[in-house]
Amino acid sequence: MQYISTRGQVSPIGFIDAVLMGLADDGGLLVPEQIPQVAPSILKQWQELTYTELALEIFSLYIDDEIPRADLQKLVESSYATFRHTEVTPLQKLSDDRYVLELFHGPTFAFKDVALQFLGNLYAYVSERRNSVIHILGATSGDTGASAIEGVRGKEGIRICILHPHEKVSKVQELQMTTVDDANVLNLSVKGNFDDCQRIIKDLFADIDFKHRYHLRAINSINIARILAQTVYYFYGYFQAVKQGSPAKINFSVPTGNFGDIFAGYLAKKMGLPIHKLILATNENNILARFVNEGLYQPGDFKETYSPSMDIQVASNFERYLYYLYGEEAGIVASLMAQFKTDGRLTVSGDILAQVQGDFAAYSVANEACLDTISAYHQTYGYLLDPHTACGVTAADQLAAPGEATITLSTAHPAKFDEAIQLRQIKQTYPPQIQALFAKPQFQTVVDGTNEAIQAQLEKFF
Ligand SMILES: *Cc1c(COP(=O)(O)O)cnc(C)c1O
Repeated sequence: MQYISTRGQVSPIGFIDAVLMGLADDGGLLVPEQIPQVAPSILKQWQELTYTELALEIFSLYIDDEIPRADLQKLVESSYATFRHTEVTPLQKLSDDRYVLELFHGPTFAFKDVALQFLGNLYAYVSERRNSVIHILGATSGDTGASAIEGVRGKEGIRICILHPHEKVSKVQELQMTTVDDANVLNLSVKGNFDDCQRIIKDLFADIDFKHRYHLRAINSINIARILAQTVYYFYGYFQAVKQGSPAKINFSVPTGNFGDIFAGYLAKKMGLPIHKLILATNENNILARFVNEGLYQPGDFKETYSPSMDIQVASNFERYLYYLYGEEAGIVASLMAQFKTDGRLTVSGDILAQVQGDFAAYSVANEACLDTISAYHQTYGYLLDPHTACGVTAADQLAAPGEATITLSTAHPAKFDEAIQLRQIKQTYPPQIQALFAKPQFQTVVDGTNEAIQAQLEKFF
Protein backbone atom coordinates (compact mmCIF):
# COMPACT_ATOMS: atom_id res chain seq x y z
CA MET A 1 0.00 0.00 0.00
CA GLN A 2 1.24 3.46 -0.89
CA TYR A 3 0.37 6.68 0.93
CA ILE A 4 -0.25 10.09 -0.63
CA SER A 5 -0.92 13.57 0.68
CA THR A 6 -4.32 15.25 0.80
CA ARG A 7 -2.60 18.21 -0.91
CA GLY A 8 -1.07 16.12 -3.69
CA GLN A 9 2.54 17.32 -3.49
CA VAL A 10 4.24 14.26 -1.95
CA SER A 11 5.22 11.33 -4.15
CA PRO A 12 3.70 8.05 -2.95
CA ILE A 13 5.52 6.42 -0.01
CA GLY A 14 5.18 3.15 1.89
CA PHE A 15 3.56 2.62 5.28
CA ILE A 16 6.68 3.02 7.44
CA ASP A 17 7.71 6.21 5.67
CA ALA A 18 4.17 7.53 6.06
CA VAL A 19 4.29 6.83 9.80
CA LEU A 20 7.69 8.52 10.07
CA MET A 21 6.59 11.55 8.05
CA GLY A 22 3.55 12.25 10.27
CA LEU A 23 2.37 15.54 8.80
CA ALA A 24 2.95 15.37 5.04
CA ASP A 25 5.88 17.46 3.78
CA ASP A 26 3.49 19.62 1.73
CA GLY A 27 1.49 20.51 4.86
CA GLY A 28 -1.28 18.02 4.10
CA LEU A 29 -2.16 14.72 5.75
CA LEU A 30 -1.27 11.26 4.49
CA VAL A 31 -3.98 8.91 3.29
CA PRO A 32 -3.85 5.44 1.70
CA GLU A 33 -3.85 5.51 -2.10
CA GLN A 34 -6.93 3.29 -2.08
CA ILE A 35 -9.14 2.27 0.81
CA PRO A 36 -9.15 -1.55 1.08
CA GLN A 37 -12.60 -3.06 0.61
CA VAL A 38 -13.78 -5.79 2.97
CA ALA A 39 -16.43 -8.07 1.46
CA PRO A 40 -19.44 -9.16 3.57
CA SER A 41 -18.14 -12.75 3.54
CA ILE A 42 -14.87 -11.59 5.11
CA LEU A 43 -16.75 -9.49 7.67
CA LYS A 44 -18.58 -12.65 8.65
CA GLN A 45 -15.32 -14.51 9.18
CA TRP A 46 -13.89 -11.61 11.16
CA GLN A 47 -16.77 -11.81 13.65
CA GLU A 48 -15.11 -14.82 15.24
CA LEU A 49 -11.69 -13.24 15.71
CA THR A 50 -10.20 -12.03 18.98
CA TYR A 51 -9.25 -8.36 19.19
CA THR A 52 -5.59 -8.97 18.36
CA GLU A 53 -6.40 -11.34 15.50
CA LEU A 54 -8.73 -8.73 14.05
CA ALA A 55 -6.12 -5.98 14.44
CA LEU A 56 -3.61 -8.15 12.59
CA GLU A 57 -6.01 -8.64 9.65
CA ILE A 58 -6.86 -4.96 9.38
CA PHE A 59 -3.27 -3.73 9.70
CA SER A 60 -2.15 -6.27 7.08
CA LEU A 61 -4.47 -4.64 4.54
CA TYR A 62 -2.68 -1.32 4.99
CA ILE A 63 0.87 -2.54 5.47
CA ASP A 64 1.02 -5.38 2.91
CA ASP A 65 4.25 -7.23 3.57
CA GLU A 66 6.33 -4.16 4.33
CA ILE A 67 6.43 -5.57 7.84
CA PRO A 68 6.60 -9.39 7.75
CA ARG A 69 3.42 -10.88 9.16
CA ALA A 70 5.20 -12.64 12.02
CA ASP A 71 6.77 -9.34 13.12
CA LEU A 72 3.46 -7.53 12.81
CA GLN A 73 1.78 -10.20 14.89
CA LYS A 74 4.39 -9.74 17.63
CA LEU A 75 3.90 -5.96 17.53
CA VAL A 76 0.14 -6.29 17.83
CA GLU A 77 0.28 -8.89 20.57
CA SER A 78 2.74 -6.96 22.71
CA SER A 79 0.74 -3.74 22.21
CA TYR A 80 -2.48 -5.22 23.58
CA ALA A 81 -0.89 -7.44 26.23
CA THR A 82 -0.65 -4.30 28.39
CA PHE A 83 -4.44 -3.97 28.53
CA ARG A 84 -6.18 -4.99 31.74
CA HIS A 85 -9.14 -6.63 29.99
CA THR A 86 -8.78 -9.85 27.99
CA GLU A 87 -11.12 -8.50 25.31
CA VAL A 88 -9.03 -5.29 25.05
CA THR A 89 -12.12 -3.16 24.27
CA PRO A 90 -15.14 -4.90 25.87
CA LEU A 91 -18.68 -3.87 24.92
CA GLN A 92 -21.07 -3.06 27.79
CA LYS A 93 -24.76 -3.40 27.10
CA LEU A 94 -26.75 -0.85 29.10
CA SER A 95 -30.12 -1.50 27.44
CA ASP A 96 -31.45 -3.06 24.23
CA ASP A 97 -30.37 -0.04 22.21
CA ARG A 98 -27.62 1.56 24.26
CA TYR A 99 -24.10 0.16 24.35
CA VAL A 100 -20.80 1.52 25.58
CA LEU A 101 -17.55 0.34 24.02
CA GLU A 102 -14.96 0.66 26.78
CA LEU A 103 -11.72 1.81 25.21
CA PHE A 104 -10.03 2.73 28.48
CA HIS A 105 -8.48 -0.51 29.72
CA GLY A 106 -4.95 0.42 28.64
CA PRO A 107 -2.11 1.73 30.85
CA THR A 108 -3.37 5.36 31.08
CA PHE A 109 -7.11 4.68 31.29
CA ALA A 110 -7.98 6.55 28.06
CA PHE A 111 -8.67 5.35 24.54
CA LYS A 112 -5.47 6.87 23.20
CA ASP A 113 -3.60 3.81 24.50
CA VAL A 114 -5.24 1.66 21.83
CA ALA A 115 -3.30 3.49 19.13
CA LEU A 116 -0.28 4.67 21.08
CA GLN A 117 0.75 1.36 22.61
CA PHE A 118 0.96 0.14 19.02
CA LEU A 119 2.68 3.26 17.67
CA GLY A 120 5.26 3.18 20.48
CA ASN A 121 6.16 -0.41 19.66
CA LEU A 122 6.15 0.36 15.95
CA TYR A 123 8.60 3.23 16.44
CA ALA A 124 10.89 1.00 18.50
CA TYR A 125 10.71 -1.66 15.76
CA VAL A 126 11.50 0.86 13.02
CA SER A 127 14.30 2.45 15.03
CA GLU A 128 15.96 -0.93 15.40
CA ARG A 129 15.33 -2.08 11.82
CA ARG A 130 16.60 1.14 10.26
CA ASN A 131 19.18 1.81 12.94
CA SER A 132 17.95 5.39 13.37
CA VAL A 133 17.05 7.59 16.32
CA ILE A 134 13.47 8.71 16.78
CA HIS A 135 12.60 11.97 18.52
CA ILE A 136 8.92 12.31 19.21
CA LEU A 137 7.35 15.71 19.58
CA GLY A 138 3.71 16.05 20.48
CA ALA A 139 1.07 18.35 21.91
CA THR A 140 -1.63 17.11 24.23
CA SER A 141 -4.85 18.27 25.78
CA GLY A 142 -4.09 15.64 28.41
CA ASP A 143 -4.63 12.09 27.29
CA THR A 144 -2.36 11.82 24.25
CA GLY A 145 0.66 12.93 26.24
CA ALA A 146 0.22 10.40 29.02
CA SER A 147 -0.49 7.67 26.54
CA ALA A 148 2.40 8.51 24.21
CA ILE A 149 4.84 8.69 27.10
CA GLU A 150 3.60 5.36 28.41
CA GLY A 151 4.04 3.93 24.90
CA VAL A 152 7.76 4.76 24.64
CA ARG A 153 9.19 5.40 28.14
CA GLY A 154 12.53 3.72 28.60
CA LYS A 155 12.64 2.45 25.01
CA GLU A 156 15.99 2.27 23.25
CA GLY A 157 16.55 4.76 20.38
CA ILE A 158 13.56 6.96 21.24
CA ARG A 159 13.17 10.31 23.01
CA ILE A 160 9.88 12.05 23.60
CA CYS A 161 8.90 15.64 24.35
CA ILE A 162 5.28 16.46 25.12
CA LEU A 163 3.72 19.92 25.37
CA HIS A 164 0.64 20.31 27.55
CA PRO A 165 -1.28 23.50 28.44
CA HIS A 166 -0.18 24.68 31.88
CA GLU A 167 -2.83 23.89 34.52
CA LYS A 168 -5.42 23.09 31.85
CA VAL A 169 -5.29 19.32 32.08
CA SER A 170 -6.93 17.25 34.81
CA LYS A 171 -4.89 16.40 37.92
CA VAL A 172 -4.72 12.72 37.03
CA GLN A 173 -3.65 13.51 33.46
CA GLU A 174 -0.93 15.82 34.75
CA LEU A 175 0.32 13.20 37.19
CA GLN A 176 0.31 10.45 34.59
CA MET A 177 2.63 12.50 32.40
CA THR A 178 4.85 14.19 34.91
CA THR A 179 5.53 11.38 37.37
CA VAL A 180 7.43 9.47 34.70
CA ASP A 181 11.13 9.76 35.51
CA ASP A 182 12.69 7.98 32.52
CA ALA A 183 15.54 10.02 31.02
CA ASN A 184 14.05 9.82 27.52
CA VAL A 185 10.95 11.84 28.55
CA LEU A 186 10.58 15.66 28.66
CA ASN A 187 7.34 17.33 29.78
CA LEU A 188 6.87 20.99 28.82
CA SER A 189 4.03 22.76 30.59
CA VAL A 190 3.13 25.61 28.22
CA LYS A 191 1.51 28.88 29.32
CA GLY A 192 -1.50 28.93 27.00
CA ASN A 193 -4.21 26.53 25.88
CA PHE A 194 -4.14 23.36 23.82
CA ASP A 195 -4.57 25.17 20.51
CA ASP A 196 -1.41 27.17 21.29
CA CYS A 197 0.47 23.92 21.90
CA GLN A 198 -0.86 22.41 18.72
CA ARG A 199 -0.01 25.49 16.65
CA ILE A 200 3.60 25.47 17.90
CA ILE A 201 3.96 21.80 17.02
CA LYS A 202 2.48 22.36 13.57
CA ASP A 203 4.90 25.25 12.94
CA LEU A 204 7.91 23.23 14.08
CA PHE A 205 6.96 20.27 11.90
CA ALA A 206 6.34 22.61 8.96
CA ASP A 207 9.95 23.80 9.29
CA ILE A 208 11.33 20.87 7.25
CA ASP A 209 14.91 21.79 8.03
CA PHE A 210 14.30 21.75 11.81
CA LYS A 211 12.28 18.56 11.50
CA HIS A 212 15.05 16.71 9.67
CA ARG A 213 17.88 18.08 11.78
CA TYR A 214 16.27 16.75 14.96
CA HIS A 215 14.69 13.59 13.46
CA LEU A 216 11.30 14.77 14.66
CA ARG A 217 8.42 12.32 14.55
CA ALA A 218 4.77 12.93 15.29
CA ILE A 219 2.54 11.18 17.76
CA ASN A 220 -0.57 13.32 17.33
CA SER A 221 -3.64 11.91 15.74
CA ILE A 222 -2.53 13.16 12.33
CA ASN A 223 -0.35 10.05 12.29
CA ILE A 224 -1.88 7.50 9.96
CA ALA A 225 -0.90 4.57 12.20
CA ARG A 226 -3.15 5.94 14.93
CA ILE A 227 -6.13 6.16 12.62
CA LEU A 228 -5.63 2.58 11.47
CA ALA A 229 -5.35 1.26 15.02
CA GLN A 230 -8.61 3.01 15.84
CA THR A 231 -10.56 1.48 12.96
CA VAL A 232 -10.13 -1.93 14.64
CA TYR A 233 -12.50 -1.30 17.54
CA TYR A 234 -15.30 -0.13 15.27
CA PHE A 235 -15.24 -3.56 13.67
CA TYR A 236 -14.80 -5.31 16.99
CA GLY A 237 -17.55 -3.33 18.74
CA TYR A 238 -19.93 -3.81 15.85
CA PHE A 239 -19.38 -7.58 15.85
CA GLN A 240 -19.92 -7.83 19.62
CA ALA A 241 -23.17 -5.86 19.37
CA VAL A 242 -24.42 -8.21 16.65
CA LYS A 243 -23.55 -11.17 18.87
CA GLN A 244 -25.36 -9.58 21.81
CA GLY A 245 -28.53 -9.40 19.72
CA SER A 246 -28.48 -5.74 18.70
CA PRO A 247 -31.10 -4.51 16.21
CA ALA A 248 -29.95 -4.38 12.58
CA LYS A 249 -29.18 -0.67 12.48
CA ILE A 250 -26.08 0.04 14.51
CA ASN A 251 -24.87 3.62 15.07
CA PHE A 252 -21.64 4.80 16.64
CA SER A 253 -21.54 7.93 18.75
CA VAL A 254 -18.08 9.42 19.08
CA PRO A 255 -16.92 12.07 21.58
CA THR A 256 -14.95 14.22 19.17
CA GLY A 257 -12.08 16.67 19.43
CA ASN A 258 -9.46 16.51 16.71
CA PHE A 259 -11.62 14.34 14.46
CA GLY A 260 -9.18 11.42 14.62
CA ASP A 261 -11.42 8.90 16.32
CA ILE A 262 -14.48 9.62 14.23
CA PHE A 263 -12.41 9.67 11.06
CA ALA A 264 -11.39 6.10 11.90
CA GLY A 265 -15.10 5.26 12.02
CA TYR A 266 -15.63 6.94 8.67
CA LEU A 267 -12.78 4.86 7.28
CA ALA A 268 -14.23 1.64 8.74
CA LYS A 269 -17.52 2.48 7.04
CA LYS A 270 -15.76 3.15 3.74
CA MET A 271 -14.02 -0.23 4.07
CA GLY A 272 -17.41 -1.91 4.17
CA LEU A 273 -18.52 -2.05 7.81
CA PRO A 274 -22.27 -1.31 7.59
CA ILE A 275 -22.39 1.40 10.28
CA HIS A 276 -25.77 3.15 10.18
CA LYS A 277 -25.21 6.64 11.62
CA LEU A 278 -21.90 8.11 12.65
CA ILE A 279 -22.80 10.53 15.41
CA LEU A 280 -20.31 13.30 16.02
CA ALA A 281 -20.58 14.56 19.60
CA THR A 282 -18.86 17.75 20.65
CA ASN A 283 -18.86 19.74 23.86
CA GLU A 284 -19.41 23.52 23.81
CA ASN A 285 -16.33 23.91 21.61
CA ASN A 286 -18.51 22.88 18.73
CA ILE A 287 -16.86 23.92 15.47
CA LEU A 288 -17.43 20.43 14.04
CA ALA A 289 -21.08 20.18 15.03
CA ARG A 290 -21.68 23.61 13.48
CA PHE A 291 -19.94 22.45 10.34
CA VAL A 292 -22.18 19.39 10.00
CA ASN A 293 -25.38 21.20 10.90
CA GLU A 294 -24.81 24.58 9.23
CA GLY A 295 -21.98 24.12 6.74
CA LEU A 296 -19.73 26.66 8.42
CA TYR A 297 -16.25 25.68 9.62
CA GLN A 298 -14.98 28.54 11.72
CA PRO A 299 -13.26 28.53 15.11
CA GLY A 300 -15.37 30.14 17.86
CA ASP A 301 -14.41 31.47 21.28
CA PHE A 302 -12.65 28.96 23.48
CA LYS A 303 -14.94 27.57 26.21
CA GLU A 304 -13.87 25.70 29.32
CA THR A 305 -15.76 22.43 29.65
CA TYR A 306 -15.78 19.26 31.73
CA SER A 307 -14.34 17.31 28.81
CA PRO A 308 -10.97 19.04 28.23
CA SER A 309 -9.70 16.41 25.78
CA MET A 310 -12.35 17.64 23.35
CA ASP A 311 -11.60 21.34 23.87
CA ILE A 312 -10.33 22.15 20.42
CA GLN A 313 -11.09 24.85 17.90
CA VAL A 314 -9.32 23.56 14.80
CA ALA A 315 -9.57 19.79 14.26
CA SER A 316 -6.27 18.54 12.89
CA ASN A 317 -7.74 15.49 11.11
CA PHE A 318 -10.56 17.35 9.44
CA GLU A 319 -8.58 17.79 6.24
CA ARG A 320 -8.64 14.03 5.71
CA TYR A 321 -12.41 14.13 5.56
CA LEU A 322 -12.38 17.12 3.19
CA TYR A 323 -10.23 15.05 0.85
CA TYR A 324 -12.91 12.38 0.53
CA LEU A 325 -15.75 14.89 0.60
CA TYR A 326 -14.29 16.52 -2.51
CA GLY A 327 -13.83 13.26 -4.42
CA GLU A 328 -10.12 12.77 -3.58
CA GLU A 329 -9.20 15.94 -5.49
CA ALA A 330 -5.99 17.10 -3.78
CA GLY A 331 -6.01 20.36 -5.76
CA ILE A 332 -9.36 21.36 -4.29
CA VAL A 333 -8.23 20.46 -0.76
CA ALA A 334 -5.04 22.50 -1.15
CA SER A 335 -6.98 25.57 -2.24
CA LEU A 336 -9.61 25.13 0.49
CA MET A 337 -6.91 24.93 3.15
CA ALA A 338 -5.18 28.00 1.71
CA GLN A 339 -8.52 29.81 1.81
CA PHE A 340 -9.06 28.70 5.42
CA LYS A 341 -5.64 30.06 6.31
CA THR A 342 -6.43 33.52 4.90
CA ASP A 343 -10.14 33.82 5.78
CA GLY A 344 -10.22 31.77 8.98
CA ARG A 345 -13.37 30.04 7.77
CA LEU A 346 -14.76 27.59 5.23
CA THR A 347 -18.31 27.18 4.07
CA VAL A 348 -20.09 24.38 2.25
CA SER A 349 -23.64 24.33 0.92
CA GLY A 350 -25.96 22.52 -1.48
CA ASP A 351 -24.95 19.01 -2.50
CA ILE A 352 -21.72 19.10 -0.53
CA LEU A 353 -23.52 19.99 2.70
CA ALA A 354 -26.08 17.26 1.96
CA GLN A 355 -23.18 14.81 1.61
CA VAL A 356 -21.73 15.93 4.96
CA GLN A 357 -25.10 15.40 6.60
CA GLY A 358 -25.33 11.98 4.99
CA ASP A 359 -21.95 11.05 6.43
CA PHE A 360 -22.50 12.39 9.96
CA ALA A 361 -25.14 13.46 12.42
CA ALA A 362 -23.82 15.95 14.94
CA TYR A 363 -24.80 17.34 18.31
CA SER A 364 -23.10 19.81 20.60
CA VAL A 365 -23.50 19.06 24.31
CA ALA A 366 -23.80 21.89 26.82
CA ASN A 367 -21.79 21.66 30.05
CA GLU A 368 -24.81 21.11 32.32
CA ALA A 369 -26.34 18.55 29.95
CA CYS A 370 -23.11 16.54 30.13
CA LEU A 371 -23.30 16.41 33.94
CA ASP A 372 -27.04 15.62 33.78
CA THR A 373 -26.27 12.59 31.64
CA ILE A 374 -23.63 11.40 34.11
CA SER A 375 -26.19 11.61 36.93
CA ALA A 376 -28.98 10.01 34.92
CA TYR A 377 -26.95 7.03 33.71
CA HIS A 378 -25.49 6.52 37.15
CA GLN A 379 -28.98 6.42 38.59
CA THR A 380 -30.70 4.40 35.86
CA TYR A 381 -28.01 1.89 34.93
CA GLY A 382 -25.59 2.08 37.85
CA TYR A 383 -22.95 2.92 35.26
CA LEU A 384 -20.51 5.78 35.75
CA LEU A 385 -19.64 7.70 32.56
CA ASP A 386 -16.68 10.03 32.30
CA PRO A 387 -17.58 13.51 30.94
CA HIS A 388 -16.27 12.79 27.41
CA THR A 389 -18.24 9.58 27.12
CA ALA A 390 -21.23 11.43 28.59
CA CYS A 391 -21.10 13.86 25.64
CA GLY A 392 -21.26 10.87 23.30
CA VAL A 393 -24.15 9.31 25.19
CA THR A 394 -26.07 12.61 25.27
CA ALA A 395 -25.68 12.97 21.51
CA ALA A 396 -26.82 9.37 21.03
CA ASP A 397 -29.94 10.03 23.10
CA GLN A 398 -30.68 13.09 20.96
CA LEU A 399 -29.99 11.65 17.52
CA ALA A 400 -30.67 7.90 17.51
CA ALA A 401 -34.08 7.02 16.11
CA PRO A 402 -36.27 4.26 17.59
CA GLY A 403 -35.15 0.86 16.33
CA GLU A 404 -31.51 1.89 16.06
CA ALA A 405 -28.88 0.70 18.51
CA THR A 406 -26.06 3.06 19.36
CA ILE A 407 -22.60 2.15 20.54
CA THR A 408 -20.99 5.09 22.28
CA LEU A 409 -17.23 5.01 22.36
CA SER A 410 -16.14 5.36 25.96
CA THR A 411 -12.94 7.30 25.60
CA ALA A 412 -11.86 7.55 29.23
CA HIS A 413 -12.26 5.96 32.64
CA PRO A 414 -14.26 8.23 34.99
CA ALA A 415 -11.40 8.29 37.51
CA LYS A 416 -9.41 10.48 35.12
CA PHE A 417 -12.01 13.24 35.45
CA ASP A 418 -13.11 13.07 39.04
CA GLU A 419 -13.32 16.90 39.23
CA ALA A 420 -16.47 16.76 37.08
CA ILE A 421 -17.91 13.63 38.70
CA GLN A 422 -17.66 15.24 42.16
CA LEU A 423 -19.87 18.12 41.03
CA ARG A 424 -22.72 15.62 41.02
CA GLN A 425 -21.84 14.23 44.46
CA ILE A 426 -20.95 10.84 43.02
CA LYS A 427 -18.20 9.06 44.91
CA GLN A 428 -15.87 6.74 43.06
CA THR A 429 -12.88 4.75 44.19
CA TYR A 430 -9.77 5.23 42.08
CA PRO A 431 -8.18 2.19 40.50
CA PRO A 432 -4.97 1.43 42.46
CA GLN A 433 -2.75 2.41 39.50
CA ILE A 434 -4.22 5.93 39.56
CA GLN A 435 -4.23 6.20 43.36
CA ALA A 436 -0.50 5.43 43.40
CA LEU A 437 0.30 8.49 41.24
CA PHE A 438 -0.51 10.96 44.00
CA ALA A 439 2.48 9.88 46.07
CA LYS A 440 5.07 10.27 43.29
CA PRO A 441 7.34 13.27 42.53
CA GLN A 442 6.66 15.28 39.35
CA PHE A 443 9.06 16.24 36.55
CA GLN A 444 8.11 19.11 34.22
CA THR A 445 9.34 22.47 32.92
CA VAL A 446 6.98 25.47 32.69
CA VAL A 447 7.61 27.50 29.50
CA ASP A 448 6.16 30.43 27.54
CA GLY A 449 3.90 29.57 24.65
CA THR A 450 6.19 30.82 21.88
CA ASN A 451 7.93 28.89 19.13
CA GLU A 452 11.30 30.27 20.26
CA ALA A 453 10.89 29.16 23.88
CA ILE A 454 9.93 25.63 22.83
CA GLN A 455 12.67 25.44 20.22
CA ALA A 456 15.27 26.36 22.83
CA GLN A 457 14.07 23.55 25.13
CA LEU A 458 14.14 21.05 22.29
CA GLU A 459 17.64 21.97 21.23
CA LYS A 460 18.80 21.21 24.78
CA PHE A 461 16.93 17.93 25.03
CA PHE A 462 17.45 16.31 21.62
C1 LIG B 1 -8.56 12.55 22.61
C2 LIG B 1 -9.83 12.34 23.30
C3 LIG B 1 -11.05 12.58 22.65
C4 LIG B 1 -11.13 13.16 21.25
O1 LIG B 1 -10.65 12.29 20.26
P1 LIG B 1 -10.26 12.86 18.82
O2 LIG B 1 -9.65 11.72 18.10
O3 LIG B 1 -9.29 13.98 19.06
O4 LIG B 1 -11.52 13.35 18.19
C5 LIG B 1 -12.21 12.29 23.34
N1 LIG B 1 -12.18 11.83 24.60
C6 LIG B 1 -11.03 11.60 25.26
C7 LIG B 1 -11.07 11.10 26.65
C8 LIG B 1 -9.81 11.83 24.63
O5 LIG B 1 -8.66 11.60 25.27
